[in-house]
Amino acid sequence: MYKAPNIRSGAGIVRELKHLPGRVAVMTMDIPWAVMQEQCPWQPDHVHMVADMDLETVERLEAALPQCDVVVGLGGGSCCDTAKYIAWKRGCRMVLVPSIVSVDAPLTNMIAVRVDKTVNYVGDIFPEELLIDHDLIQRAPAELNRAGACDIASIHTALHDWKLAHENNGEPYDAAIAILATDCLNELDRNAEEVYKVTPKGIDTIIELYRREVKFCTEFGSSRPEEGAEHIVAYNIEHLTRRHFVHGDLVGFGIHAISMLQNNRAAWATDLIRRCGLRYDVPDASRDELRQALTSLKEFKAQAGLFYSVVDAGVIDREYVESVMAGLPESPSR
Ligand SMILES: [Zn+2]
Repeated sequence: MYKAPNIRSGAGIVRELKHLPGRVAVMTMDIPWAVMQEQCPWQPDHVHMVADMDLETVERLEAALPQCDVVVGLGGGSCCDTAKYIAWKRGCRMVLVPSIVSVDAPLTNMIAVRVDKTVNYVGDIFPEELLIDHDLIQRAPAELNRAGACDIASIHTALHDWKLAHENNGEPYDAAIAILATDCLNELDRNAEEVYKVTPKGIDTIIELYRREVKFCTEFGSSRPEEGAEHIVAYNIEHLTRRHFVHGDLVGFGIHAISMLQNNRAAWATDLIRRCGLRYDVPDASRDELRQALTSLKEFKAQAGLFYSVVDAGVIDREYVESVMAGLPESPSR
């Protein structure tokens, strides 16, 4: 069942960790831990450096970690997810301190673990205590913090696909939730410049919009309101290249490409992701890889057994692919 998080944000709020009662175990990584120590030297009972999110790794950690009263996740998605895994298994108190806002892991109840290199979701624990330290988050690379806007901006293309699946396929649709989602998209639009500049307002906007999104998706029972064919594009790039990317880079490209396929205010959508600073030309992929990911969308969707979307209904031909590519920023860095 959904539990609302208590979110406290501000500059230097990370200092509150020192006052946690009982035995404290921190799940972190080198960089966020070093930044934390600069701002606020602190020696908790246990500090664990997170290596990866393989299911085996977290299972082993949970078995070996000494008893604790509070588990703290201090860092990016893997640190938050490792803390969530420990707290879920042990039923202990959990405090999450994201050092970056690139993914929604600090707000969701699911834990992303890897089994044979593919992401699986386990667990069910809604984070109830969050500390959002602006100083700490502003120390992370700006482009990674901006990437957090991707799973809010994806509402634009996801809502279109959701409605299409309802009209063509009779999938359940909830107009009231679609309105809540549209409100989030508009809120992102109004704050795009703050997000781009990674100001305190920009950071709080991303966290607040994630909070609202997790709430309505949980109440609806799926991520349909924020996950559409733009994510199929993202998954296909990873599938084709077998490489790992910044999620926001992939979804940014997906929103650009899919809003065109949907004939859905494409110029506005591309402008929104550009204003938020999403790198929608995927700097870590070649133009040919991007072309191939679009050309093979229908095949990939069928093979992977993914949800109904404009990928099923639309016409994906050479002309479409080239128009998407022509809309990417010029002079790519490769
Ligand atoms: Zn996503």
